[in-house]
Amino acid sequence: MKVLKFGGTSVATPERIQLVMKLIREAREQGEIAVVVSAFGGVTNKLIKASELAAQGSPAYLDLLTELKGIHLEATAQLGPEGSQVIARLHQKLDKLADILRGVFLLRELSLRSLDLIMSFGERLSAYILSASLQTQNVAAEYLCASELVKTDDQFGHARVNFEATNHNIQSYFAGHANLQIITGFIGSTDTGEVTTLGRSGSDYTAAIFAAALAAGEVEIWTDVDGVMTADPRLVRNAFSIASMSYEEAMEMSHFGSKVIHPKSMQPALEHNIPIRIRNTFNPPFAGTLIGRQADPNPFVIRGISSLAEIALLRVQGSGMLGVTGISARLFATLARASINVILITQGSSEHSICFAIMPDKARLARKAIETEFHLEILAHQIEPVIIEKDLSIIAVVGEHMRGTPGIAARTFQALGKHGANIIAIAQGSSELNISIVVNKSEEAIALNSIHETFFMRDKKALHLYLVGPGLVGGRLLEQINRQLDFLAREYALELRLNGIANSKRMAFDAKGIAFDDWTPYLASSSETMALSRFVERMKGFNFPHAIFLDCTASDEVVKYYERILNLGISIITPNKRANSSTYEQYRRLKELAIRRGVRFFYGTNVGASLPIISTLNDLTLSGDQILKIETVISGTISFIFNSFDGSRRFSEIVHEAKAKGFTEPDPRDDLNGIDVARKLLILARETGVACELSDISVENLLPEECRKASSVADFFDALQQHDDYFAQKLQEAHKAGKVLRYIGTIEEGKARVALQAVSESHPFYHLSGSDNIIAMTTSRYREQPLVIKGPGAGADVTAAGIFADVIRIGNS
Ligand code: ADP
Ligand code: ASP
Ligand code: MG
Repeated sequence: MKVLKFGGTSVATPERIQLVMKLIREAREQGEIAVVVSAFGGVTNKLIKASELAAQGSPAYLDLLTELKGIHLEATAQLGPEGSQVIARLHQKLDKLADILRGVFLLRELSLRSLDLIMSFGERLSAYILSASLQTQNVAAEYLCASELVKTDDQFGHARVNFEATNHNIQSYFAGHANLQIITGFIGSTDTGEVTTLGRSGSDYTAAIFAAALAAGEVEIWTDVDGVMTADPRLVRNAFSIASMSYEEAMEMSHFGSKVIHPKSMQPALEHNIPIRIRNTFNPPFAGTLIGRQADPNPFVIRGISSLAEIALLRVQGSGMLGVTGISARLFATLARASINVILITQGSSEHSICFAIMPDKARLARKAIETEFHLEILAHQIEPVIIEKDLSIIAVVGEHMRGTPGIAARTFQALGKHGANIIAIAQGSSELNISIVVNKSEEAIALNSIHETFFMRDKKALHLYLVGPGLVGGRLLEQINRQLDFLAREYALELRLNGIANSKRMAFDAKGIAFDDWTPYLASSSETMALSRFVERMKGFNFPHAIFLDCTASDEVVKYYERILNLGISIITPNKRANSSTYEQYRRLKELAIRRGVRFFYGTNVGASLPIISTLNDLTLSGDQILKIETVISGTISFIFNSFDGSRRFSEIVHEAKAKGFTEPDPRDDLNGIDVARKLLILARETGVACELSDISVENLLPEECRKASSVADFFDALQQHDDYFAQKLQEAHKAGKVLRYIGTIEEGKARVALQAVSESHPFYHLSGSDNIIAMTTSRYREQPLVIKGPGAGADVTAAGIFADVIRIGNS
């Protein structure tokens, strides 16, 4: 005998129910089975909602009732069980539900007992419809309402099973019923026949109860995922399914809230040594997860990670607790009397405080109960009023190997620290099966992901990239990455994935990764319109550790989101100068935020593309050197113009050529007015520790007044032609003195300026060619001869290469 349980997700639609019926027919060919079924997906929640509305006196409950009727009648119509008898029985059940809800509405009162009765209709309807539908396919199926057999106490909402009576009932019922039984999950009844429920997600438990009573060979829990996974796949995209685990591990994994399998299901299975297999209704060939007494050897040191999204932490503290025996006994007895389940307890060795976690909806009740119990101690100031902290989550790292394996806690905390997640409380069960950590709710996902990465993805590190602005630089970057993918994976175990991309119109995402050589059509065919706020939300939704946002735009708008992005634990790499050349305050804030959040903010390509200018400056200052003076030609565009301006051609002609070659901004005045150079100089000055603003930099605008005023680019070129003599004259003067013209930025004694200068042959800037950048740093260590870095400092390829290098730096850190 095998017991098969189909969860709400497996019976959410008539199409899915068809799949379930097929699985049932196939399983029957293999041997004897019994089937337990949940309410149709979402129905239990709707029943609860309708009950609450009715109790509040809101007639809106009727709309939900109509919806519920529709769902069940529609499914019946589609699945084909016809005949007036079936429809009549269905209407009978639905009418009864309507009557009870009306009672709640009239009385404005909803007891846990009535709620259980109302919730039971979900399973009663689904099991009935499934049995009738199977009959139309010539399967001799019978509806079995478990509340007749499963006997419980009267703790409505989470009733406890009386196994003696239940086992006896089940055994004698099955002895007299040879047909296939379609059993309602989740429900039972008291001695006096009142319907109870076994707790949310309790159908798994029902399956285990029947399996134990019938001495079944196996329980199969059919759901919508490939078994128990290493973490909740909705929160951790890299989670994968676990082939086998022990009952204890499964219990610890499912302990927190309703996950894949209800923890109580393990008790009867364990007692009777019945294996439980979790399988995917939508992927039947997959073996899923086998839960048994002994699991296969685990290739990892932990088995999985689970979490509880919402808990409250209560702290009882006071000087009067020190060394006084019996306080915790009284405290927890008080909570037990109030039926409050304690999820986690920690106590510092000072015994000065006890901290424990409970469900948030019980927090006030708990406080009241404790303050009543200890009111004398509180009056005497021996114990302080109870402190409640909310918006917290618990993460549990689970696995049998943890016993006796040192360093697991350390690795867990290290992972959290690396991603800037703050640990609020820690508890380890003495079984060492579980380390539980309390974190802020906002950090739940990143904490889960970073721990998951540490324990399950060790041999390979995945970097998750999000790129906005796949223009020239961004496009080249993706090409370069594409060429190196294999090499990085092979030599550095580094995997790069492009999980999101956006231009000004559209954005596109893929959790598994967008092909680096195929993003163009992928983005073009995306139906998501670009909005930065939504782009950020999508990144947040993925929750990948080692996520990097690549801003390849030159936009101020994107910069506005940097703080939010860093706060999400996502690093930023950008050639966009806007962030660091706006206010000093913002520059500092972003840098400090990145440090605080444990992420990177790299902008080496802000100055000199891939030339190692900023990194060298940082290395020098970090190692204690002092920057005395910086001289630099830092604009590739202007460098090209003056390096080409040797007297053989007119100035305007050269500017024309620069524009034609794509070296200039669309309006070359944006280069020639010196602002771009000033921004770079500003960033360099700030990197050397000078707290300055753009307005503090003295900039010589290269253009005569009339050229600046021209109303269009064409007019500007006209005006520039008129002034060719002006530039020719400057050049002649320089030549006469054996010099050349260079547009040089200087930082000295906390001041920065940009000006056109004539330099002689002995000057390191005399011999520059093409679009070369150069920087000469005079420092305490490089006093006699400055440290010089020179090379092409503009162009999409070298800029992209600089960004790529920063990506790899993050990968290797
Ligand atoms: P059913 O309706 O079949 O009872 P549930 O919704 O109760 O299904 O449980 C299945 C869901 O549990 C999955 O869709 C998945 O999102 C979630 N889940 C949470 N944690 C895990 C985990 N560690 N492994 C697999 N699924 C998990
Ligand atoms: N239908 C119940 C619930 O939603 C029981 C179950 O699905 O297991 O909680
Ligand atoms: Mg479930």
